[in-house]
Amino acid sequence: MRESPYPMVSVDDALAILLSQVAPLPAVSTPLRDALGLVLAVDVRAAADQPPFPASIVDGFTLRAADGDGPRRLIGEQLAGYVAEIAVEPGTAVRITTGAPIPPGADAVVMVERADELDGLVIPHPGQELRPGLGIRPMGADVLAGQPVLAAGQALGPAELGMAASLGLSCVPAHRRPVVGVFSTGDELMLPGQPLGPGQIYDSNRPILLAAVAQAGGQPLDLGIVRDRPGELEQALAAGLAAADLLVTSGGVSMGELDLLKPLLAGWGQVHFGRVRMKPGKPLTFATLPARQADGAIDPGQPGRPVFALPGNPVSALVTFQLFVRPAIRRMAGHAAVGLPQVMATLGQPFPLDPERPEFHRVTLRRAEGRFVARSTGSQASSRLLSASGAAGLLVLEQGEGVAPAGAERPALLLDDAWLRE
Ligand code: AMP
Ligand code: MG
Repeated sequence: MRESPYPMVSVDDALAILLSQVAPLPAVSTPLRDALGLVLAVDVRAAADQPPFPASIVDGFTLRAADGDGPRRLIGEQLAGYVAEIAVEPGTAVRITTGAPIPPGADAVVMVERADELDGLVIPHPGQELRPGLGIRPMGADVLAGQPVLAAGQALGPAELGMAASLGLSCVPAHRRPVVGVFSTGDELMLPGQPLGPGQIYDSNRPILLAAVAQAGGQPLDLGIVRDRPGELEQALAAGLAAADLLVTSGGVSMGELDLLKPLLAGWGQVHFGRVRMKPGKPLTFATLPARQADGAIDPGQPGRPVFALPGNPVSALVTFQLFVRPAIRRMAGHAAVGLPQVMATLGQPFPLDPERPEFHRVTLRRAEGRFVARSTGSQASSRLLSASGAAGLLVLEQGEGVAPAGAERPALLLDDAWLRE
């Protein structure tokens, strides 16, 4: 029997090893429109007060509270975006819109619904307390100059980008999105849309992995299908090492005659692990290789490139991606939390245990009485993509004899964190 030269490492050890080999990419000044989902690289403080002037928070009439309830003479208009050359003297009022600066002399705003305007007079409705500050957002009420408003490590969503814009920033220093090169290996692989010849199948791994890269926050780079020939593999690898920050390949890492990838990776760089104790995904291989220049020569000026050689079976490729490649991409992108979110799930049925390896069983999840209930997506054959399509999570089953009984609790890794927002 052929023996793998690689020791089998645990999932936790594999994760620790790979995270020790990847670091956040440098920060780049990024226009706000390109920064969604990126991670901020520096703390940001407000340079000025917000609002930068006392502003009306309603449409209405600005006046002096001390004048009491009686009518005032309407002497002008103060619109948002302008500064009217107008002062509010005792007994007068100025029409004002939301967001407009409060003119000198005024100290309150009565909303338009609570006053009548008649013959050049403004008459506040009786019964409302006209006090200084009414209807006014003081300078610095939202943000004070010098206040920290965004923190390094924070992911930039719509609100954070808006915050940056409100401070007047058009660009933010953010970690670069890693470019992730993806190629499939296998003489049997055909492009979808083409007819299949005898012995051929469609390449499903590339669409899976390119989509998963984008979902993880990487920038996917499609490097195509590569045949199981040493020259072709070397060429694809060299091209990937020149163009991408991280490489993901699939196939060619099992124990067959044409599984050429592991020796190639070992020859060109360092294989950190070549087998992981998990089901599916045992042949997962992780290496670091020197970066290359466009002409194929080693580029000593660039950091080494992490390379993940995923098993060829589509489900194995997807599961190992989510467990290992996703954290690497997220670490490079600057995220602090890199793993899939984990919850406890109640088993909605018995789950058989594997005596040799922990299993990441694809499950649907349902909410019942505040708990997640996990059910199997059916046959877990690593070729059967139906076990993954529609799956909400990966149920983490320990290696063992017999079954985990219905009603027991096990951790589940969420493939879509929309669950956490429910
Ligand atoms: P390998 O790891 O290359 O031995 O491949 C293991 C199994 O996965 C074989 O049945 C392959 O045909 C299949 N496979 C490999 N790559 C792909 C791919 N890109 N798309 C679909 N199936 C694949
Ligand atoms: Mg193959």
